[in-house]
Amino acid sequence: MRTLKCSTHGLKEWRGEVVCSSCERVFTTHDPKLRTHAPLVCPCGSRLMPGTGASKTKAFSGRACCSECFALRQAGRGTT
Ligand SMILES: [Zn+2]
Ligand SMILES: [Zn+2]
Repeated sequence: MRTLKCSTHGLKEWRGEVVCSSCERVFTTHDPKLRTHAPLVCPCGSRLMPGTGASKTKAFSGRACCSECFALRQAGRGTT
């Protein structure tokens, strides 16, 4: 089990939730079949994920967030 120390919620289990630091959209990384699966580039135009191989970059906007932050942000934005 991977854990994440959230500044708001303390130590939480991390299940692959990420938040875009540019627009605060939330995504998941653990299941590619989910509609919320993190794309390489966020809809806001920011590079979201580091990628692999030649396209790998250190400059990306995705930040790990805890499941409670994920649920709160997702609820705050609605389901679209
Ligand atoms: Zn974004
Ligand atoms: Zn949190």
